[in-house]
Amino acid sequence: MSTKDFIEKDYYKVLGVPKDATDAEIKKAYRKLARENHPDANKGNAKAEERFKEISEANDVLGDAKKRKEYDEARALFGNGGFRAGPGGAGGGTFNFDLGDLFGGGAQGGQSGQGGFGGGIGDVFGGLFNRGGAGTGTRTQPRRGQDIESEVTLSFTEAVDGATVPLRMSSQAPCKACSGTGDKNGTPRVCPTCVGTGQVSRGGGGGFSLTDPCVDCKGRGLIAETPCEVCKGSGRAKSSRTMQVRIPAGVSDGQRIRLRGKGAPGERGGPAGDLYVVVHVDAHPVFGRKGDNLTVTVPVTFTEAALGGEVKVPTLGGPSVTLKLPPGTPNGRTMRARGKGAVRKDGTRGDLLVTVEVAVPRDQDLTEEARSALESYRKATEDTDVRAELFQAAKGA
Ligand SMILES: [Zn+2]
Ligand SMILES: [Zn+2]
Repeated sequence: MSTKDFIEKDYYKVLGVPKDATDAEIKKAYRKLARENHPDANKGNAKAEERFKEISEANDVLGDAKKRKEYDEARALFGNGGFRAGPGGAGGGTFNFDLGDLFGGGAQGGQSGQGGFGGGIGDVFGGLFNRGGAGTGTRTQPRRGQDIESEVTLSFTEAVDGATVPLRMSSQAPCKACSGTGDKNGTPRVCPTCVGTGQVSRGGGGGFSLTDPCVDCKGRGLIAETPCEVCKGSGRAKSSRTMQVRIPAGVSDGQRIRLRGKGAPGERGGPAGDLYVVVHVDAHPVFGRKGDNLTVTVPVTFTEAALGGEVKVPTLGGPSVTLKLPPGTPNGRTMRARGKGAVRKDGTRGDLLVTVEVAVPRDQDLTEEARSALESYRKATEDTDVRAELFQAAKGA
């Protein structure tokens, strides 16, 4: 795992836990996801396999106190996938040069040259650590809202057809009472400890220093003179809202959907974060799902299977279809009703896979007439040995 991985990958998001999750919460989230995406339970499902790898990687880091600390520090320095530097800073996007030697040992200035930065690494660190006066630097820049993770449970039919569902979410937002200042009168003073930057430096290895959020102002750079009563001076408040969320047709159980800009609102004019919805799908008593195809098992009589016939088959939410069974249809044969499956992304539909299951009449259901017909069928087939092939095969090989 490289430092680049640390900066580009959001392991918290992968596990669906908040940044301040406890070790127990991380462990729990990991176990649940690992179970759902385990290769043994998802044979041949490349997506699940990929996700399982991601989950394991995230757990390797977040599940280890030391690695998690390093990861958090790297992320605090370089932001979530985009570096938000001060003057001459980078545009959004990805931080695209290798930082390995920065963290491994001596930092060498001016080595990068590429990427969206105005200058070399020296400038980057200059911008980060030598920030003097209050009110400059990252604290005053627009900040993107947090991504939010939520869950929704759909009925089988809703998942196939798509649905609009209400989703109640709570997120951290600036406190309305004090406009996010934390001060009752809206006039907080600059924190003397960090001089308004919200961060304090401490010595690190390799001739540069790391920053931590300032303890005195909790990283806000401001201290409330008269703390706001609503948010107790934090400037942040839990806001909950209910949103109508459109879940596209064809989602499957365990799928994670990203809704751009539907996360927590940004700060200081920054864009909103994204909303990730993990979809759970209830099982249907009759229909199953295999990708775009639906499945159903239909009982047929022995005579229908042996002599052939037309069989009515139910479809999900539509009129039934009639399937022609050819004479001599074996038990367990699967037939295809085209276009009667789940909706695909392009609006077309998958198929309904119909598996026939020969129904054996219960003894008490047999009428005298049916019983004697079966007796004569037995007589008529006395010379047929259905197990002859079996015994032949058992002897060979
Ligand atoms: Zn401070
Ligand atoms: Zn407040």
